[in-house]
Amino acid sequence: MTLSTRVRTIAHWSDGKFFAGSGDRTAPVTNPATGQVTGELALADVADARTVIDAAAAAYPAWRDTSLAKRTQILFAFRELLNARKGELAEIITSEHGKVVSDALGEVSRGQEVVEFACGIAHLLKGGMTENASTNVDVASIRQPLGVVGIISPFNFPAMVPMWFFPIAIAAGNTVVLKPSEKDPSAALWIAELWAEAGLPAGVFNVLQGDKVAVDELLTNADVKAISFVGSTPIAQYVYATGTLHGKRVQALGGAKNHAIVLPDADLDLAADAMINAGFGSAGERCMAISACVAVGPIADDLVAKIADRAKGLKTGPGFTPAGTSDSDMGPLVTKAHRDRVASYVDAGEADGATIVVDGRGISVDDESDGFWLGPTLIDHVTPEMSVYTDEIFGPVLSVVRVDTYDQALALINANPYGNGTAIFTNDGGAARRFQNEVEVGMIGINVPIPVPTAYYSFGGWKSSLFGDTHAHGTEGVHFFTRGKVVTTRWLDPSHGGINLGFPQNS
Ligand code: NAD
Repeated sequence: MTLSTRVRTIAHWSDGKFFAGSGDRTAPVTNPATGQVTGELALADVADARTVIDAAAAAYPAWRDTSLAKRTQILFAFRELLNARKGELAEIITSEHGKVVSDALGEVSRGQEVVEFACGIAHLLKGGMTENASTNVDVASIRQPLGVVGIISPFNFPAMVPMWFFPIAIAAGNTVVLKPSEKDPSAALWIAELWAEAGLPAGVFNVLQGDKVAVDELLTNADVKAISFVGSTPIAQYVYATGTLHGKRVQALGGAKNHAIVLPDADLDLAADAMINAGFGSAGERCMAISACVAVGPIADDLVAKIADRAKGLKTGPGFTPAGTSDSDMGPLVTKAHRDRVASYVDAGEADGATIVVDGRGISVDDESDGFWLGPTLIDHVTPEMSVYTDEIFGPVLSVVRVDTYDQALALINANPYGNGTAIFTNDGGAARRFQNEVEVGMIGINVPIPVPTAYYSFGGWKSSLFGDTHAHGTEGVHFFTRGKVVTTRWLDPSHGGINLGFPQNS
């Protein structure tokens, strides 16, 4: 175990080294499994934010002009170090987020995929060239980096979500300021040190710790050219509006309320396993978690019984033991306030008349009575007007909504303001094909509960789950972190008919 129980000071990372900042505001960082404060986080003031952004701006010209061959070598070195030492990062994630360490390792591995994708940047940045577009005139298109880019990330994936963006941004020649969540800020610093070890020049990757003050400086500072944001919908909307108002390109990924439809012909055991994994994995603190299971037709009783049996068998407990392992299926929620908020939705569902089939509210975990615990909770007979259905809960609460037909299930999803992920469980290929065509959601799973695209495809939702028109990573990510330039050239036959003030016509 690499982390001790003493309270650490958690600082910024600027220009290749730790930076304490001058701000006098701090925030506590807790271990959610013990409830203990383990760190005191420096919250940037405006001057601190400017210092970090200035470091990134100063590093940009040299990094932009560093050859693709050299940039790629550093990317490969970073990938090798990350792959060799990802266990350390997983433990840091577990100690501040709470998710079980195997899940944290999975998070790092999904982020690593984007690093591997970015190792191919030389191919991804190839432009186009047209010979003789006009007589003796050639036209070439190239893509160039933007400058300083800001990444503002949520608490639930402190490593993977930043890695959706920074490997591609850096590989493409930009410099980065990452503003992690103040709830679990240490993963970003571990990553910063790893970049330094991989040979990334100082100032190319920086970490700015803080809250709205830091975010607002990123959104308004003229040196920041682009913002990649992931978090809740109201903040995503604010970030998109403010960033674009200040002339930046912005991609702002927001919240979610993901539905899974189970059709009457589905394999109910497969569907029940999937509901458990997608509903309760990472204690439901995933933007792709399934929180509404839509049971179609007569299978609802059987399906609910199968999910309930499985939910009762899950073990909730610390994400790792002193030996660095854990046999827990599910860890605690990230903070006490969040735990209480999630529990209040279960209370509201009960008061609204839903049936609490499995109740996680009274759970106790041996030796860790101060942890932020909430066990898996299954609620049946949920209706669309209940707050347990309408709101993003972001906890281990799975609601079952019963409908009679596929069309009713589809209408429910399409009426929802969010459109991040969704899934259908069926053995009917025709129904699945209809669903993928008709559903208004960005990422679709067919017998796959959490359809997170691999790095070489792009990740992004529709409607209130994404503001902006570019999804994360894949070729859309390369496009987001570069801008196009078109060069028109004539070397042969430079005489062009002498002075002619007319607009040139193709010839
Ligand atoms: P959040 O919106 O509270 O915070 C996200 C980031 O915004 C953090 O860095 C935070 O410091 C900053 N922030 C918070 N309040 C702010 C304010 N008033 N002004 C400026 N900045 C502010 O989100 P969270 O609780 O950290 O994360 C959970 C949310 O993220 C959920 O809604 C989840 O669905 C969403 N999420 C979405 C995706 C996706 O891909 N769509 C992925 C992961 C998480």
